[in-house]
Amino acid sequence: MKRVFNFNAGPATLPLAALEEASANLVNFNNSGMSLLEVSHRTPIYEDVHFGTISSIKEILSVPDDYEILFLQGGAHTQFSMVPMNLLGDNESADYIVTGSWSEKAVKEISVIGKKANVIADTKATKYNSIPSTLNISKDAKYLYLVSNETIQGVQFKKFPETNGVPLIVDASSDICSYPIDWKNIGIIYAGAQKNMGPAGVTIVIVRKDLIKDQPNVPTMLRYSTHAKENSLYNTPPVFSIYMVGLTMKWLKNLGGLKKIDEINKRKAAYIYDVIDSSSGFYKGHAEKDCRSLMNVTFTLATEELEKKLIKETEANNMVGLKGHRSVGGLRASIYNAMPEEGCKYLADFMKDFAKKNG
Ligand SMILES: *Cc1c(COP(=O)(O)O)cnc(C)c1O
Repeated sequence: MKRVFNFNAGPATLPLAALEEASANLVNFNNSGMSLLEVSHRTPIYEDVHFGTISSIKEILSVPDDYEILFLQGGAHTQFSMVPMNLLGDNESADYIVTGSWSEKAVKEISVIGKKANVIADTKATKYNSIPSTLNISKDAKYLYLVSNETIQGVQFKKFPETNGVPLIVDASSDICSYPIDWKNIGIIYAGAQKNMGPAGVTIVIVRKDLIKDQPNVPTMLRYSTHAKENSLYNTPPVFSIYMVGLTMKWLKNLGGLKKIDEINKRKAAYIYDVIDSSSGFYKGHAEKDCRSLMNVTFTLATEELEKKLIKETEANNMVGLKGHRSVGGLRASIYNAMPEEGCKYLADFMKDFAKKNG
């Protein structure tokens, strides 16, 4: 089988090694005579997978001991309300940094549950092309919320802001596991698995234990405490997704872990950004240079017609998923951990050639 270079934003390309191991085990899991899809989640066969995946995440991300690693459902979207439901009491509020569509959505959701977000920075006026450099965190903020990588606009924090002890809540759905994490100040970091950690169906939520409180007025399934007490086995977890997250972590470990993947990711992104920067304006990058995403490269061409032509030609040349998000247009190359370096080089060469022919 010929694999295409898959630049989709999510679900996204997965490591071939993980897919092949899952495929070899699909029908007869570790010689159990059953597929993992058929195994009760209350058996040792599955428990090995479950707790093995938790340990591999802990190891890869160097998660300190005072954090719980939870497997939840409902996607990253559900965290938009779970975070304030679990962390904010009556009349308490939190600070939000809005740098793109995903943080904008999180702010909308907090008002749905009747809690208050103080938006302390918002870059919408410049079409979310930057990361604010100075912040005034409110004195009484219970937490500071940000999206480490705005998947749609392609802007990324290069360093988390200093919060002076205010817990930082990070939606890292599109860049988790792509660089080593500085855990100082982190209250919660969460991610839908389907960009950098595995297939869709599970959300990895890593919560500092002191933030997990009994919340009798929050629906049972929406309390962090419910899942923490039961090691994410309160109800049936998405077993196969969790298995594949484990295989993806195994691949990442074999590759050399987060420091190594960070180096590779920097090289990968540079191939494409270099073509954009040296194209004499043929390609226009969306994000300002100091906050360009290493995961989602967003750019436009002079006309929509040219953009369509480029997308069509990439599709004829073994590449898929380069159309930008419908809300912003242009093109987006999502180059998560599992996108091979040669895929980025291939796209960069293709873009250079296209500019020469059409410029
Ligand atoms: C994809 C994405 C989401 C939404 O994830 P779902 O699992 O589909 O709910 C939220 N935040 C960010 C930063 C994302 O990239």
